[in-house]
Amino acid sequence: MLKENLAFVENEIQAACVRANRSRKEVTLVAVSKTKPVSELRKAYDLGVRVFGENKVQELADKYEELPKDIHWHMIGHLQRNKVKYIIDKVDMIHSVDSIRLAETIEKEAAKHSIRVNVLIEVNVAGEESKFGVSCEELPGFVEEVAKFPHIRVQGLMTIAPFVENSEDNRVIFERLRKLSVDIKEKNVDNITMRVLSMGMTNDYSVAVEEGATMVRVGTGIFGTRDYARV
Ligand SMILES: *Cc1c(COP(=O)(O)O)cnc(C)c1O
Repeated sequence: MLKENLAFVENEIQAACVRANRSRKEVTLVAVSKTKPVSELRKAYDLGVRVFGENKVQELADKYEELPKDIHWHMIGHLQRNKVKYIIDKVDMIHSVDSIRLAETIEKEAAKHSIRVNVLIEVNVAGEESKFGVSCEELPGFVEEVAKFPHIRVQGLMTIAPFVENSEDNRVIFERLRKLSVDIKEKNVDNITMRVLSMGMTNDYSVAVEEGATMVRVGTGIFGTRDYARV
């Protein structure tokens, strides 16, 4: 099942790249493995998957210990400041920076390890009350603040689009995030790049790729539905 799912997702990404006249190489598939047992991740690993996304600190740290060290771990979920220290030296990228205080903590912990941590700024494009993320209006000033931290490398933006029946409805969200990243890029802020646009999940990653996503975060489409009761 996993093998077929991966092949399906890969095909969809390729097709979206063709439609958008983009190279497949521009898009990284993040396999979102939250709630899934290590045995499932190992199967995915054996099929060639090297980039995994998790949304819980403890779960990421546990899986990190158990699985091969050439895996790239992405923290995609809301991150509490007191937990940053448990994953700071384990992750390739933190997708969910949404407050200056969180950035300060990441800076402090990264400095302890003498590393620079790749982060994305999470943007609440749709302005949903229930969602984390910086508003579109706050974003430019926010990026300039985070750019001042020497142990943080802002690599781009991330958004979690609303849940919609028809993925086309999220096209405007993805378009907006891309435009925001272009506006920031044009300001040439020191110490940051806007090379990453993390947008698109199982229900809408094709549309996201058409709109310029460089990372799509796909869970259900690869690993099947999640059983939260087991966790
Ligand atoms: C769970 C999760 C995903 C994956 O969702 P699916 O709909 O299962 O593909 C992507 N991004 C974030 C931030 C998530 O928490």
